[in-house]
This record gives sequence, structure tokens and C-alpha cells, in this order.
Amino acid sequence: MASVHLSDVTRRFGAHVAADRVNLSVNEGEFVALVGPSGCGKSTLLRMIAGLDWPDAGAIRIGERDVAALEAAERDVAMVFQNYALYPHLTIRQNLATPLALRRLRAWERMPLLWRLSSASRERHARIDADVSAAADLLGIGALLERKPAALSGGQRQRVALGRAIVRQPAVFLYDEPLSNLDAELRASMRSEIVELHRRLGVATIYVTHDQVEAMTMADRIAVMRGGRILQFGTPAELYTEPASLEVARTLGTPGIGVLRATVRASSAGLATACGCVLPLAVHAAQGASVSIGLRAEHLALTSIGDHGALPARVLQVECLGADTLVHVGLYETHAGAHRAAHGEAQPRLIVRAPRGLAEIASLPRSGDVVGVRADLSHALVFDDAGRRVTHDVIVSGASMRRVAHV
Ligand code: ATP
Repeated sequence: MASVHLSDVTRRFGAHVAADRVNLSVNEGEFVALVGPSGCGKSTLLRMIAGLDWPDAGAIRIGERDVAALEAAERDVAMVFQNYALYPHLTIRQNLATPLALRRLRAWERMPLLWRLSSASRERHARIDADVSAAADLLGIGALLERKPAALSGGQRQRVALGRAIVRQPAVFLYDEPLSNLDAELRASMRSEIVELHRRLGVATIYVTHDQVEAMTMADRIAVMRGGRILQFGTPAELYTEPASLEVARTLGTPGIGVLRATVRASSAGLATACGCVLPLAVHAAQGASVSIGLRAEHLALTSIGDHGALPARVLQVECLGADTLVHVGLYETHAGAHRAAHGEAQPRLIVRAPRGLAEIASLPRSGDVVGVRADLSHALVFDDAGRRVTHDVIVSGASMRRVAHV
């Protein structure tokens, strides 16, 4: 077991900076996800930790060892790839045994029959067999050992790829989008298997994904990446409730956070949204400054349009998920809004999570209905023009009463 530390790691490809002074510490036994859009530098970081690529500057430590000068095979890490990377002409047993044979046996001990001549060699072969069987049992692939990869399903192949990483008993596991080739159902079950495996083995794990649900559900901590940099590193709960920027807030959460553009009014006079509503929020920014207000679906509720303090809206789409429902609404100004909506103008959109499901379908609104949307502003997230989170207060009865965010 080991920890992993990156200090000011930089990697350039020509003029492009794929990793820009990245600092990251993964503790022993911790599961860390690197999440971000395609091209943000996740795989580049992982490959540098694995020893498949080298930084132009900065240091990488695995445990107490500076691994900069070490080849991949000397780093004691195992990597699982999206495309499984199995040897197609070998059986599953041979696929699992090969990494061990390469590490533990001398060249002559890998020759057919010859290895039987020495008792020490026979013992080493027996230990490899035992390790392969243990990994196969752990992953439930014992019955597949004599097949070739082509005779396995995608999920089974990925399980073999996991097995090949496990048998080596590495100090660190690295995963590069390992579930991207699987269908949604299999992805969900493999997610739990990988987490369960991690719990049992307790080895530091770095898991690259562009799927924020994977990151949120699997990781102890998440590093959100953009443009070769880590925007924020924290637990899923920290990043979800206390995002440092609009980009991080937009990255995490299903459904995605709704965002309203607004302008700061005079002191304690609230924020005027682009759709003409005034929200009783006070921020420490100059009058007239532009801000963005992030509102998550679970902090919004449907009410009637005349309800005091509710934002007037029109229902655009209703997605009933079974136990609850996502209602997509477009906000509008009470008077001009109906006209604007009728002319197809873009409206600020929000998604409301209604705690009513299929059983209460008759009580759910329909597309085109006019509704009110009430926001629990104590959970609102406010960002300045540059997308940085800013402190805000909820204004109660004209006075700024309650500070709800400290950034
Ligand atoms: P994806 O999710 O699509 O794999 P990623 O976040 O893992 O994306 P990287 O593969 O790390 O991104 O690539 C980061 C940037 O570096 C990209 O712009 C990519 O084109 C560039 N890049 C990566 N490897 C090389 C290379 N060998 N030569 C030139 N540019 C490269």
C-alpha cells in the first residue's frame, strides 16, 4: 500500500499544456476520481503516474519513492484501461498469469516443460496458479479461465482486466475510464464491484472518468479538472454543496444545476434576474455587477403562480422517474412573459424535483401549464462575473439577516 503525491506536475505537447502545475495527494487506501470533459488532461496525469509518460516539470512520489526516473514496471502500479487490453490469443488463465510470470519467473522457467525440472520453479508456478485462482474467485470468473477473450462479454472482459491488475497486488490502482464500453446497467453493477473490491483490498486508487455520476458514487474525494488544471479537490459532498466556482457546480449533480443571470441592485435590495424577478439575496459586490445564481432541483418546489415570492414559470417538460418527477420550467416576467414564450424566445430554464411519482400522476403539472416556482434560497449558490463563488445573505423583511455561505 502507498500514497501518491504530485507536486507542480507540468506536461506540454508543443504549445498545448496538458497538465499545468498540478498538485494532488492521494492517501493510502483512498479512492480518488479525476473528472472533467474530454481533453482536460485526466489521462495524461494518469499515464505520468503509471510511467507511460513523463512530466516536463514537477515531481511524482509513490509512497516515499520519487518515481520520476523509474520505468512503468518498477513503479508497483496496475492500470486498467477502457479497452481491456487483454491478449486475444491467450486464455483467461494465461492472461491473468502472464503479468505474474513476467515478474516472478526467469526466462527458462517460462519455457514449456523445462520449468518442471526444478523444485523451486515448480513452487513458483504453483504460487502463480494459486494467485490466479484467488483473483478469479474474488471476481467470480473462475468458470471462464479456459476461454479466450473473444468468447467473453464486455463485462466479463472488464472483470478479467480487473483480475489482471489484482493478481499483481500493486501498491496503487489506476483506472482509465474502465466502464465506458459497457451498457448502462452493467456500468452500474461494475461500479459497485469496483468499489467493493477497493474496500476489500484497501489500495490507493485513482480513477479517471468523464462521468460525474461515477465520480460522485465511487470516490472518497474528487478532483474536478479543466484545461490541464485541478479546479477543486474535495469530497463529493464538499464539491456539491460548496463548489468554489460555477464550473465545478455545473460539473456535479444530476440533474444539472439551474443557473439564472442576475444584476446586483442597491444594498439589500436583492438581485434582479434577467427574467425580471427580484430574489431577496444580498452579495458583497458592487451595484450593477453581474452574477449567476445556481439553484439545484431539490431546492426548488412547484407552487401556484400567485404565491407570494414564487417565480412565474411555464412547464416545458415533465419527466416522471417513477418515485419522483423532474419538471423543466421556463421562467418569465408576469406580464411580458406569456408573450415572449409564445414567440419562442429563450427563457431561463430551471429543473424542479417534485416529490411525486407515477402514483400521483394526476396531480402533476403538464407541459404548457403556468406554475410558480419557489426557491429555498438558503441553498442558493451565487457566483461573480468570473464564475467564482461569492458569499451571500438571504434578505428577510428588507434586512440582510442570515449569512448562509462562507467561501
Ligand atoms: P479523454 O477523456 O478524451 O481521454 P483526457 O481528459 O484524458 O481526455 P488527455 O488524453 O489527457 O485528456 O489529453 C489532454 C490534452 O493533451 C488533449 O488536448 C490532447 O489532445 C493532448 N495530448 C494528449 N496526448 C498527446 C500526445 N501524445 N501528443 C500531443 N497531444 C497530446
